[in-house]
Amino acid sequence: MPRPLIATVDLTALADNLVLAKRLAAPAATYAVVKANAYGHGLKRVFSALGEADGLALLEYDAALSLRDWGYAKPILLLEGFFAVAELTGAAAHCLSLVIHHAEQLEMLQRTRLSRPLEVFVKINTGMNRLGFAPESLTAVIEKLRNLEHIEKVHLMTHFAHADDYQGMLEQRNRFVQASQGLSFPTSLANSAGIFRYREIGGDTVRPGIMLYGASPFATQSAASLGMKPVMSLQSELIAIQHLRAGDRVGYGGLYQAKGEQRIGIVACGYADGYPRHAEIGTPIAVAGRRTQVLGRVSMDMLAIDLTDCADARVGSAVELWGTQVSVDEVAQAAGTVGYELLCAVAPRVPFTVSERK
Ligand SMILES: *Cc1c(COP(=O)(O)O)cnc(C)c1O
Repeated sequence: MPRPLIATVDLTALADNLVLAKRLAAPAATYAVVKANAYGHGLKRVFSALGEADGLALLEYDAALSLRDWGYAKPILLLEGFFAVAELTGAAAHCLSLVIHHAEQLEMLQRTRLSRPLEVFVKINTGMNRLGFAPESLTAVIEKLRNLEHIEKVHLMTHFAHADDYQGMLEQRNRFVQASQGLSFPTSLANSAGIFRYREIGGDTVRPGIMLYGASPFATQSAASLGMKPVMSLQSELIAIQHLRAGDRVGYGGLYQAKGEQRIGIVACGYADGYPRHAEIGTPIAVAGRRTQVLGRVSMDMLAIDLTDCADARVGSAVELWGTQVSVDEVAQAAGTVGYELLCAVAPRVPFTVSERK
């Protein structure tokens, strides 16, 4: 029997979350963000469940070409554009839309002959200071694009630095509006946070990522309370049971110490599987359908859990690390990170499967 650890991707939940994004963002077009191997869910595994999206957005050129190989025919947007001329010509040949965010990309565009017209999203830096043209340079950028014959369609976009800060988002939106005054191009602003909170500032094309995968973009609101369904569940089993006496310690560094007699279980999942090593004692986890907590330090291949209130738990009992009983956001919070990071970091040694509601 293989090691009992598996990640299951619920394709129906993914499709349902996309419907939610589309409904909230209507009438905007929705490009589902599938970067980082669809936030760790497996691009090949999930893209067919995203058929209702108006397009897909990612930043890995090879993955975009794979999507075309698999027959994906709708728009694909490369969120960081291109890094070299070869990618530019390839992108045009495969009808990939490109973000243009700095002058070097414009220069490459100016000196390259393309086999097909190109759709571009001009990115404006409205305050995140990561990618994008300065607002005051936009007019000049647009002028240069107008002089290029192979540019077919231009959009204007920006990316929000805040999720929970309405004022911060508004400031960025205002800079965007000011920069694009007098230009009548379609726009793209909102990520998941923008779609939930601030529909009026989303633009003509929205770019939901994390919400599709059923995790929350907010620190203060759960995915369930926002109507999202969890997509990935990471499941294992108890592979050993230990009976502690008062004073016994658990795991590396003896971080946890039993106060009295206590039954604990050992789970076949550790940080080499992508479970966060920084998960605190008390991090929620479910065994045999009941929520309990992680004890001691997470090891490379195993972790220990409390079985005090889990009398029926035995070797072979099902354990959910995250999924429908324990949200990935709860685990992330207890480990000082965000659901995004845990979903993206499930290790290659963990096998995946899919489920679907008929
Ligand atoms: C990752 C990304 C998104 C999606 O963000 P979420 O917070 O996951 O919804 C949208 N736009 C850009 C440019 C991105 O890089």
